[in-house]
Amino acid sequence: MVKAVVGANWGDEGKGKITDMLAKEADIIIRYQGGANAGHTIVNSYGKFALHTLPSGVFYDHTTSIIGNGVALNIPLLFKEIQSIVEKGVPTPKILVSDRAQIVMPYHILFDQYEEERLGKNSFGSTKSGIAPFYSDKYAKIGFQVSELFDEEHLQKKVESVVEQKNIILEYLYHKPTLNVEELMKTLLEYREMVAPYVEDVSLFLDKAIKEGKTILLEGQLGTLKDPDHGIYPMVTSSSTLAAYGAIGAGIPPYEIKQIITVCKAYSSAVGAGAFVSEIFGEEADELRRRGGDGGEYGATTGRPRRMGWFDCVASKYGCRMQGTTDVAFTVLDVLGYLDEIPVCIGYEIDGKVTTDFPVTHLLEKAKPVFEVLPGWKCDIRGIKKYEDLPENCRRYIEFIEERIGYPITMISNGPGREDIVYR
Ligand code: GDP
Repeated sequence: MVKAVVGANWGDEGKGKITDMLAKEADIIIRYQGGANAGHTIVNSYGKFALHTLPSGVFYDHTTSIIGNGVALNIPLLFKEIQSIVEKGVPTPKILVSDRAQIVMPYHILFDQYEEERLGKNSFGSTKSGIAPFYSDKYAKIGFQVSELFDEEHLQKKVESVVEQKNIILEYLYHKPTLNVEELMKTLLEYREMVAPYVEDVSLFLDKAIKEGKTILLEGQLGTLKDPDHGIYPMVTSSSTLAAYGAIGAGIPPYEIKQIITVCKAYSSAVGAGAFVSEIFGEEADELRRRGGDGGEYGATTGRPRRMGWFDCVASKYGCRMQGTTDVAFTVLDVLGYLDEIPVCIGYEIDGKVTTDFPVTHLLEKAKPVFEVLPGWKCDIRGIKKYEDLPENCRRYIEFIEERIGYPITMISNGPGREDIVYR
């Protein structure tokens, strides 16, 4: 049984917590897209962790954690992340890295910085983790698969050819120091040492696991609105954030994905540039940011403050639809307990017309939010286990949103911990 945990919005919906929670009943957890540009924050009995590369299941000793072929693999970061969790007392996790995963090269990170510098105020707000240059090279067919590290002769030739091309851009476009073939080879051979214990033919491993009836979780990064095809292009990420891509980025048949759990946060937050219709500003935003998540809405990778907004039914309905949602996990609801009234964005006004269907980017930029204000519940809902025990206004908020997005909210997260969950 394969399940996917994915985001409906701009990311940071709390997928890490939901995956970590579901991992208890899972055998295998797979990262299938993205790279170390986003992170999950997880709180458990070992402490608080920000994971960027490892799947959220690494804290259980019964699970296998997999980095699928679709991931942008930063090998030294993976290595450091494994060390850092083991240092905090977590049992050494069982990790497999796809032999087809491609490697984030040191120059991808440099090109990401240089390009953002070159674009100046028109930059994408990249986390400068090398993700866009990485995926560009992957599709330009000059990326490096993990398996290529193990054929030194081939690697040397390919490095020479790629460095020749990169150096022209470094010299003439960016006016920056050029790359050196020997140095790069040395680095790649170090990468080989680091990754060697984990390399596996992952799709073959998963084929067997599926036949044995294992429970497999696909862990998405970011959310629908950052998908390169269906998101707010060009302010998107560089690999697909949709559950469907789980089949490709892990190497399994699409029809094996039986449950798609789409995570929606009870309010909105976004990072990077781009239209954000239900965005709020000033003191109202600062307070929500301060109280949000677990210790505030600040990037897990960059520490930068997230942009804040009220719940957006238009974006979330679309976000759930594009994921192929079977279940919605509604998270961080406890945070809203301080509000007398809670605005919810129920429509977009574009050129004088109100719509509930999420538009293409150039129309999105013109959209103005239509809000409906719901009463708050003014109390702390952490610790509540049963849906009926939630305050009436809180249930009303959930049911209002469920009706507007059109997908069943089956899980409600009312705290950062594994046990803070209300099933419906
Ligand atoms: P992800 O990238 O989708 O996994 O999301 P992040 O890890 O960036 O953001 C989720 C943040 O909210 C983390 O700090 C979590 O510990 C925290 N969190 C998750 N669910 C809840 C919840 O129900 N209540 C509260 N207060 N915090 C939560």
